[in-house]
Amino acid sequence: MSPELRQQYLQAMGVQLWQSRFQTETEQDAVAETAIGSPAADNAVVEQVRSETIVSDIPPASIESDLITAVNNCTACELHQNRTQAVIAEGSETARLMVITTAPAMNAESTTSLLAADSSQLFTKMLQAIQLSRTDIYFTSLVKCPLSQDRELRTTEVLCCEQYLNQQIELVKPDLIVALGEVSAQQLVVSKKALPELRGKSYQYQSVPLMVMSHPDDLLNTPEDKRNAWHDLLQIQQKLNA
Ligand code: SF4
Repeated sequence: MSPELRQQYLQAMGVQLWQSRFQTETEQDAVAETAIGSPAADNAVVEQVRSETIVSDIPPASIESDLITAVNNCTACELHQNRTQAVIAEGSETARLMVITTAPAMNAESTTSLLAADSSQLFTKMLQAIQLSRTDIYFTSLVKCPLSQDRELRTTEVLCCEQYLNQQIELVKPDLIVALGEVSAQQLVVSKKALPELRGKSYQYQSVPLMVMSHPDDLLNTPEDKRNAWHDLLQIQQKLNA
């Protein structure tokens, strides 16, 4: 990749990359690693994210009404007790990239969304880094009813909700699925390994190629993982362009 393009992508993620006109590519990599991983750089990203208008109106995917009705009436698992509002998906039903997070969550404004505000902003930047927008992808979750933040998702709940996810895959027919975060990855590739061991490899789910990458929540908390996330984004871009 050319240094100019690399800088363009890093800037899209909100990472300022300063470089000498005389730096070698190896030196540029080292600078990028420092810039992405340093607390100062991460704070700058978070501050930039916070200062921007919160994007809360990502268009919902207009999925078949049968699926919406089925989810809104579903009592197959305990999570239906938290359901003031189920989240089926957002983005485009014709997307080539499907991203699957763990579960919707209630936010401070008592609305339900797939990502908290800061994570949502960072996720948008991550997609922009590979020249995609939120409306270019189909974004959904393993389970459709909100998961309270004081407990972990159970495999039985994922299995109960799997029928809806599989219907979504059938509907969208993505070229690539990305499991966002460790829980989503472990469930979709059926593994108990930690995310660092799962990422960087190719899997399949429902016969669709699947990759794993860090959740934006985790990237905000662990800035040193941003370098790996950057490489995962480039791999996603490469697979979509293949
Ligand atoms: Fe049904 Fe899924 Fe909601 Fe559980 S999470 S009640 S399986 S729609």
